Amino acid sequence: MLNDERHRRGLMMMIVAPSGVGKTSLTRRLVADHSDLHLSVSATTRAPRPGEHEGRDYHFVDPQTFEAMVADDAFLEWAEVYEHRYGSPKEPIMAALERGESTLFDIDYQGAMKIRAHAPRDAVTVYVLPPSIAEMSRRLHARSQDSEETIRMRLSRAKSEVAQWEDFDYVILNDDFDRAYAELAHIYHAERLRSSRNLWVNGVVERLIDEAS
Ligand code: 5GP
Repeated sequence: MLNDERHRRGLMMMIVAPSGVGKTSLTRRLVADHSDLHLSVSATTRAPRPGEHEGRDYHFVDPQTFEAMVADDAFLEWAEVYEHRYGSPKEPIMAALERGESTLFDIDYQGAMKIRAHAPRDAVTVYVLPPSIAEMSRRLHARSQDSEETIRMRLSRAKSEVAQWEDFDYVILNDDFDRAYAELAHIYHAERLRSSRNLWVNGVVERLIDEAS
């Protein structure tokens, strides 16, 4: 979809939500449906959860390797979240932008704001709200990846996190997956069409001016 020969610059789309909102299902589907959109695979110092794979979900690295990557300026941004470090490797993201392809970030609030400050013209930010805290709690328990204590911590953080929506370009309420997904896809399609990303326009306009004179 949206893949044609026109010369474009890609974009960086940051999707932020408290955990248990269904963000991962939304991002996976958006990437699966768009061959010009890739998920940024972060490096993290946390251990893999059951079912997670190296290189698909994260690059799982030890703290020394993470430090070396910070020293090499290999991250577009990095942050400490829930006592572990996470970073977005810079090189594949910049290469994709130049190729006219886009990167989707499943990232936290701090990371999204840092990337937007660093590259405001390339960044698009989306916040996903849960329909209720009870539904978030149900999802966190259903995925059975976290301890009771972690779940309690995540739910109590959600109260302050949802107030962050005001800092985002777009907000989606995930009370119905299909509708939330359709809204996310519309945002992506419209942002791809933003005039500043469509580098082919200059050539067309020059030709139109030539023809008209
Ligand atoms: P989890 O451990 O549940 O996979 O992720 C914990 C939090 O870290 C989530 O909010 C996730 O979006 C965030 N996160 C994952 N990768 C990155 C990254 O590269 N940078 C930042 N700043 N946050 C990240």
